[in-house]
Amino acid sequence: MFEPNLDAIASWIRGKGYRSAAVQLPEGLKMDALRISDFLSNSTDAEIMILGDPCYGACDLFVDYKRYADALVHLGHSPIHPQEDDGDVLFIEVRVDADIDDAVMKAAERLPKRIGLLATIQYVGLIPRAKEILESAGKEVLVGSGDRRISYPGQVLGCNFSSASSVNGEVEAFLYLGEGDFHPLAAAFGTKKEMLVLDPLSGEIRSVDEARDRMLRKRFAAIEKAKTAESFAVIVCTKTGQDRSAAADDIIKKIKERGKKAYKIVINEIGPDALLPYKVDAFINTACPRIAIDDSARYPKPMLTLTEAEIALGSKEWDEYEFDSITNP
Ligand code: SF4
Repeated sequence: MFEPNLDAIASWIRGKGYRSAAVQLPEGLKMDALRISDFLSNSTDAEIMILGDPCYGACDLFVDYKRYADALVHLGHSPIHPQEDDGDVLFIEVRVDADIDDAVMKAAERLPKRIGLLATIQYVGLIPRAKEILESAGKEVLVGSGDRRISYPGQVLGCNFSSASSVNGEVEAFLYLGEGDFHPLAAAFGTKKEMLVLDPLSGEIRSVDEARDRMLRKRFAAIEKAKTAESFAVIVCTKTGQDRSAAADDIIKKIKERGKKAYKIVINEIGPDALLPYKVDAFINTACPRIAIDDSARYPKPMLTLTEAEIALGSKEWDEYEFDSITNP
């Protein structure tokens, strides 16, 4: 079902005359890595290698590929500007087709008049059809364009809901096409509007409003705990699309101005074991905001996003809570 266009990859490798190519895949496609490698080896003259480290998104693009291969094939994600400028990197998105007509009609019954449409990269191709159906049901449908972290109108990332923000003032609710809570929660947090999720494969329709409220309660508790912290580890990630060093320096300055201790930890793979040696009262994560928001229970000390740290340090109030998005203006 999630079948990348292998012929297109092989033809690109052959056309460019590469002698070697590295293939980077998200975790969900790794079980197909050997088959993909076999196909590309048999249909090109290039040596194919599989990059085995975890890959979470285009934010995790293996920019050092030239040390090992002439070219890089990155599967499953769209580029984060300016990654598309490198002619030796091929981004192959994996699109999923599904018959969504009945499910969208059902969703229309639960939606107000003016709706924004959103989707993950796998399902952005379904947005025009969903729009057509909703409009035939009398809805006004808007599909917003995001910033340069976003490749397609309506596309959302777990760290960027700018396509939703761009139409937030004109719609009453959003319909999101995709699976799981990860991406729609970002948009639900950020827009503060009703967010209905339609799973194109199962046809299930549900709201993420409860999940958002549950998450907000947990974030409130983490912020409260961090208010008494005297020492902070501020995490900077070396992944190309997660490096927010300037923001880290800014928050370190604020921590120190309050007479508290701040340490900068520069790291590639963030996890409880990697942070275990650092005995601080709280962590501030400037990398992927979802590490703090979704995985905080895995850490022994509060793990805050940048915007949450502002509240813990007293620069902002709880009612000014904002989702910590990574933007590429
Ligand atoms: S949500 Fe996290 S993993 Fe996904 S693109 Fe954003 S920074 Fe990368």
